Amino acid sequence: MIRLTIWYENVQEKGILDKNIFQESFPEEEEKKFAGFLAKTAEEMKKVYPDGLGKTLEDHFKAKEDISVKLVTLDMPGCGITDELLENTDVLMWWSHIAQHAVPDELAEKIHQRVLQGMGLIVLHSGHLCKPLKLLLGTSCTLRWREGDFERVWTTAPTHPIAQGIPPMFELETEEMYGEFFDIPKPDDVIFTGWFRGGEVFRSGCTWTRGYGKIFYFQPGHETNPTYHNEYILKILDNAVHWTAPDRIHDKPDCIHAEAPEIRK
Ligand code: ZN
Repeated sequence: MIRLTIWYENVQEKGILDKNIFQESFPEEEEKKFAGFLAKTAEEMKKVYPDGLGKTLEDHFKAKEDISVKLVTLDMPGCGITDELLENTDVLMWWSHIAQHAVPDELAEKIHQRVLQGMGLIVLHSGHLCKPLKLLLGTSCTLRWREGDFERVWTTAPTHPIAQGIPPMFELETEEMYGEFFDIPKPDDVIFTGWFRGGEVFRSGCTWTRGYGKIFYFQPGHETNPTYHNEYILKILDNAVHWTAPDRIHDKPDCIHAEAPEIRK
């Protein structure tokens, strides 16, 4: 049984400017604009994910016999991730957007260390800027973006386990354009490459290993698009959970004095 924890930001769905999260003071006009954006996004999200984006992902994995899933959110104590939960997580799936700053550095560091020990990490869409991924990859993870585009997702590593059951190409009628340059270290595999109407291309599905842990970043999944209802997207996420799940969690990588093994005569 793979123990999957989904960390979902759960801020935009509420549609309110929560001063606990957005502590900086905006100029009045800007604050009004931002509050308006939050309210509008919440309305749009309700149409696409009436039960919530996080809950939609949770419900999908609940139906799987070999996966046990737990959904946690930023507004829970300790941002939803206690030490105990981290110790009992094989794969952490992460969706974040406008409140990346609200995740404490200390928690990001704990996640970083747990990945080095073998925990799988799947980072979705705007989570490209989340603290744990930036710590693990060591780059800014910035990119170009434009909302409301059309995407063709090309399978560029068809033999990879994450690509199993996925056609050479599938289309997303509406998805946010993410374009290069995506400031990431060279991936081990670029499993999917996105093409957009503006002609932009993007390394949409990338893998890395860090320590004993496997990492998958996947671009589609803008909050107001029905992306997480798409059968291929869900199949890719299923495959990614299985691929990133560790055989076991290791001790922290460390320098060990090693006696020379006996030479066979
Ligand atoms: Zn987005």
